[in-house]
Amino acid sequence: MSLGAVRNWVFDMDGTLTVAVHDYAAIRVALGIPTEHDILTHLAALPADEAAAKHAWLLEHERDLAVAATAAIGAVELVRELAERGCRLGILTRNARDLAQVTLEAIGLADCFPVAHILGRDEAVPKPSPDGLLKIAGAWGVAPHELVMVGDYRFDLVCGRAAGARTVLVNLPDNPWPELVDWHAADCRALKVMLG
Ligand SMILES: [Mg+2]
Repeated sequence: MSLGAVRNWVFDMDGTLTVAVHDYAAIRVALGIPTEHDILTHLAALPADEAAAKHAWLLEHERDLAVAATAAIGAVELVRELAERGCRLGILTRNARDLAQVTLEAIGLADCFPVAHILGRDEAVPKPSPDGLLKIAGAWGVAPHELVMVGDYRFDLVCGRAAGARTVLVNLPDNPWPELVDWHAADCRALKVMLG
């Protein structure tokens, strides 16, 4: 299958459609999370009141980042091209859904993604779980292999593979995970060219 024939596109948000700004090391320090631990997994295992307080801190921190978000190279043009071609467009993010909407507003793409097609960490088990991608496939009434998952990180690719979807890696000059990647583009501008 050629990339230009794909009709169902799911994007990671931070670092894929936006310029990556999350300082995960600083977040771990602020929340007392060991370096090697996944932030969301760590918070999920805490006592309820401590988890709630730390989630609230994380949400505020991420809200500031969302308001100031800038689009990644070629991201706006790629998404608008896909929308013009009549493709279905979704977002699967480990961020919160309302912050994803704030981010999309900031980069001028909010009109391309209906809220029902934006799944955040409260709407699905976070990536690398395939849960969110399978939910989107179900909502769209398509088989997982008819979807592509576009992301900038290993979790996006593992999620895509586990769901049975195709995977696209962007915004890394090299491809550190060839076994997980169906298409690799330097950025969204290059990916748009690959549509043909
Ligand atoms: Mg990302």
